[in-house]
Amino acid sequence: MPVISERIETDHAHLLHPLHHPSAHQRPKIWVEGKGAVIKDAEGREYIDGLAGLWNVNVGHGRRELAQAALEQMSTLAYSSAYAGSTNFPAIALAERLSGLVYPSINTFFFTSGGAEASETSFKTARFYWKAMGQPDKVKIISRTRAYHGLTLAAMSATGLASFWPMFEPRVPGFLHIDAPDPYRFVNDDPSVSQGVAAANQLEAAILREGPEAVAAFIAEPVQGAGGVIVPPDDYFPRIREICDQHDVLLISDEVITGFGRTGRWFGLEHYGVEPDIMQFAKGITSGYVPLGGVGVSDKIREIINGVPPNKRWMHAYTYSGHPTCCAVALKNIEIIQNEGLVERAADAGGRLLQKLRALEPLDGVGHVRGKGLIAAVEVVADKATKQLFPPEAQMTQRLYEALLERGLYTRVLMDCICLAPPLVISDEQIDRVVEIIRETIPAVLSDVPKR
Ligand code: PMP
Repeated sequence: MPVISERIETDHAHLLHPLHHPSAHQRPKIWVEGKGAVIKDAEGREYIDGLAGLWNVNVGHGRRELAQAALEQMSTLAYSSAYAGSTNFPAIALAERLSGLVYPSINTFFFTSGGAEASETSFKTARFYWKAMGQPDKVKIISRTRAYHGLTLAAMSATGLASFWPMFEPRVPGFLHIDAPDPYRFVNDDPSVSQGVAAANQLEAAILREGPEAVAAFIAEPVQGAGGVIVPPDDYFPRIREICDQHDVLLISDEVITGFGRTGRWFGLEHYGVEPDIMQFAKGITSGYVPLGGVGVSDKIREIINGVPPNKRWMHAYTYSGHPTCCAVALKNIEIIQNEGLVERAADAGGRLLQKLRALEPLDGVGHVRGKGLIAAVEVVADKATKQLFPPEAQMTQRLYEALLERGLYTRVLMDCICLAPPLVISDEQIDRVVEIIRETIPAVLSDVPKR
């Protein structure tokens, strides 16, 4: 076993990490093993994986079936190009499988390696669609504050978390944001409609401001993840769909987190009886065992893509599109989710989690508790009456993260929201332990921090 401190020094010497800064990486955890909802570090300590890796290890850690699927495909044909004129059996089978699984009007798929490329694919496809329809100026993309859509420049520009922008600007032109439909913080200044409808109506106002002839698409996560788990009011997405239809704006559902059972349904917008024009996925499609993402397009969009003359073709190229090994793992992963009833499990276990978390609401510092299926958050505030957050000097995010870790729960704290999205196989006992840890942690951390 290598000496841990030496390995960390070598990490410091040779690695850049996502969201890199040395101050956040003095004593990193080195993860070495996982089983179900539990992960182990190099010192042999075990933790509940409260975020299923990065919201992706849906079937849990240590699944030999997935390793076997990769082994078999790699030993047969690990890679082949899927450029037009060339294809492979796992990609065909996965696209066929998804067609039966996702929204009825979406039956055609393009595969990427991750979520950001899926976002790029969605934006480019929306622009392509309108150009092919004779509307070349419909190019703008509207998204929401607190949205996360990936690290590439356009995806970063659609991302509505301003901390991701400043050191990489200028952002891509033509990307704009409306407010997140956050039931806790959205201020409805139109008493004639519900909060959800008011939040959706911001989309209509933005479309009218920009001119419908300039707007290609609206992109939204059914439940916003990295923005602090924002579950919209039930009437939000139906109104969004109505607005998109009325103004000829495509609706892109970013299901990178909400796909493959996370919310207690196979896909997030199913909760709201709404179908998108384009959906994008990643993470849970392989439970993170190998990288895979992609988009599905509606039959209407597919007809347009197939209908252009050859010199206007969809010039969207990607070496790893339809990667046979990744598609084979995805097929096996979907089989596991189906055979083990993990979507239903997410709904049931999520109900238990939310109910127990709600019991924490009376605690000092607990501003809001929310969730849908096995994605949830506890938002910690300095003042429950005003909903004010702790000042940055209080370093609440870091304190909560470390205090949770100390008690055996590994997860992310984002803008003082303790985010939870454990593997869908998490047991009832583990859920109860997660809630107990949070119950102990919040008062302990608050007693160390002076109030505003
Ligand atoms: N969209 C959403 C909703 C996400 O949560 C993420 C990643 N957290 C992405 C896109 C980007 O995915 P990736 O990191 O695989 O590029």
